[in-house]
Amino acid sequence: MVLVVEDEASYVDALEVGLTGEGFTVVAARTLRAAREQLARSPVDLVLLDVMLPDGSGIDYCRELAASPTPVIMVSARSAELDIVLGLEIGAADYVTKPFRLRELVARMRVVLRRPPTGAEDAVRVGDVVVDVARRTVHRATQAVELSRKEFDLLALLCANLGQVVTREVALDTLWWGVDLTDDRTLDTHVKRLRQKLERDPAVPRHLVTVRGVGFRLDP
Ligand code: CA
Repeated sequence: MVLVVEDEASYVDALEVGLTGEGFTVVAARTLRAAREQLARSPVDLVLLDVMLPDGSGIDYCRELAASPTPVIMVSARSAELDIVLGLEIGAADYVTKPFRLRELVARMRVVLRRPPTGAEDAVRVGDVVVDVARRTVHRATQAVELSRKEFDLLALLCANLGQVVTREVALDTLWWGVDLTDDRTLDTHVKRLRQKLERDPAVPRHLVTVRGVGFRLDP
């Protein structure tokens, strides 16, 4: 269950319809007070939290929630709000800025939901490689595989969508969002490096598969 804390009716409606269509159960709160009441009634898996709310600041509420196991994705308007969100250690798992695309938000939500809040075991096995998304480690047998931050972020995104296609658009939005890439070969370079580290024969990938014209898929 996802709690959407948002006072703009158009966003609440769009998220209720869009996220329900993606298989999430959505509850909405238009004020911090309603959000607190909702969380007191029943726990949720994830909170999508707007910054400017009628009865207070989402940033303060995010700090409150940091003590709980519930992950928070901050949703900010494209303005000074984002600088505030980024500038403070408020315990948010991620953030998106308005306007956002539903697919981008859902991809980020899946990554966050794959991260167990308590640091419990959450390993994904891909061939003879074990990816621990929560601890951000990759092992082949007992040997650690070194990945750059972006390589791991890409792998985590693929793991969160295991067996499903991650489109180039979603991968670019999730990893290089807000960065003005001159071309999208950066993504291919990272896929190539991941294959060199994950595949037995990087030239004939069996796990990190290209879906021509669409994107990539990680097959266990
Ligand atoms: Ca607002």
